[in-house]
Amino acid sequence: MLATKTRTQSVAHLGESALIEQIKFWLGPVNPPSPQGIGDDCAVSVALKEGNQLTTTDAINYGYHFDDSMNPENVGAKLIKRNVSDIAAMGGTPESAVLALLCSSDVSIDWLKGFFLGIRDTCERYSISLVGGDISTLKATSFSAVLTLNGYAEEPKLRTSSRVGDFIYTTGTLGGSILGKHYQFEPRLSEGQWLAKSPECHAMMDLSDGLGKDLNALLPENTMADLFLDQIPVSEAAKKLAHTSGLEELEHAFCDGEDYELLFTMDAQTDKTEFEKSWQNKFPNTQLTCIGSIQNTGVEKGPYLDAKTGKPIPWVYGFEHLKT
Ligand code: ADP
Ligand code: MG
Repeated sequence: MLATKTRTQSVAHLGESALIEQIKFWLGPVNPPSPQGIGDDCAVSVALKEGNQLTTTDAINYGYHFDDSMNPENVGAKLIKRNVSDIAAMGGTPESAVLALLCSSDVSIDWLKGFFLGIRDTCERYSISLVGGDISTLKATSFSAVLTLNGYAEEPKLRTSSRVGDFIYTTGTLGGSILGKHYQFEPRLSEGQWLAKSPECHAMMDLSDGLGKDLNALLPENTMADLFLDQIPVSEAAKKLAHTSGLEELEHAFCDGEDYELLFTMDAQTDKTEFEKSWQNKFPNTQLTCIGSIQNTGVEKGPYLDAKTGKPIPWVYGFEHLKT
């Protein structure tokens, strides 16, 4: 449970300064010695000499991104991984992070310890240093954490550089993440780094709000996506949800959020068989599917068409924050 009624077991008992000491202890080697890590007004790091710096930020909110059914280790891990997924989507390497905690004083110390152990494990796995942060107070039984993650990439792969004729590929399977994948996913970091080195890969992003919403960001002006509906890699979870939701499996695959897969485009001249073979060799455990191609827009056509029938595909939405 996030909150506790017993004062001695809550962060109220510690206060800010003791809590920061606890955080340093929980993080262990993931927090470098000050001034590179926690301790001073800013963390000091040597400026990058080559490459491009990447910066991303993402939050996790009690009641929205997690609830009491999720253990705190997984909450911490999810916060790191959803930021790593953004770095992966540029073909980058994550490096250092700062963490802003917005926390009510009834939050349990045990819960917070679990949260930080999840952060520590995940940071260790991706060689991320957690170098600083902030703590501020919220009203009863509230918790948000905002992570800002820095990384670097020699040649970041952008969303906006696809061309007419490009094939559209996705990793993994799509839809139904609410059944568990929303925190159990592995960010596609090695895959993204490998693709970033390929000149045939024109553009890339991660799927966080659903294919139906996100794919649009990869389409240049006056183009549309011709999609092979029978090739969309519908997840088992999406199929399961479709039994009870009244929605089609494909609608779940297009419109559910938090897939954390890579969506990318490959030059029209790519030898698909060769490409898919080398992918198989490199990433035998990561499914890869060509789901369509980018074409010039015809008259009065939607952004996505069924390649077989030429009809518009209705699932053009995804997760939207603040929409009621
Ligand atoms: P300041 O008041 O100068 O912003 P603080 O007293 O808030 O500094 O923080 C002291 C040190 O602890 C800083 O190095 C800061 O980065 C670090 N810190 C504060 N909160 C967190 C947190 N939630 N996670 C990691 N480091 C933190
Ligand atoms: Mg200061």
